[in-house]
Amino acid sequence: MRERLTETEARYLLTMYKVYAECGCITPKQIAERMNVKRPTAYEYIMKFVEKGLLCKISKKYALTEIGIKKARKILRKHRILESMFYETGVSLDKACECAHRIQTSVDDDIVEHIARYLGSPKKCPHGEPIPEVDR
Ligand SMILES: [Zn+2]
Repeated sequence: MRERLTETEARYLLTMYKVYAECGCITPKQIAERMNVKRPTAYEYIMKFVEKGLLCKISKKYALTEIGIKKARKILRKHRILESMFYETGVSLDKACECAHRIQTSVDDDIVEHIARYLGSPKKCPHGEPIPEVDR
């Protein structure tokens, strides 16, 4: 899927990726709680992602598809490299993270890889979380 997600969609996808990694499934209730929104809003995004092929329904719950996982890992890699860059320059961790959320869907992949090399190919973000490798 080459289509870019919006800033908000990317925030939802990263939250779903986290929930999926922790629980092995995704429900509107979990997403609503994590995103601090009402359940119908979370459900709307779930439906949107099913349509885009990022999620699939398994009985009454949802799971990320292979495409969804790849897409989430790609955004997460960008997020963590960008926040590492801001943090390196002395920006606070909260600000670095928030700013990375705002630009992660608009910065080109190759630019992020240039930044990663410039930073010495970091393996962890300033939160101490692993930076996913590039998927082939
Ligand atoms: Zn962050």
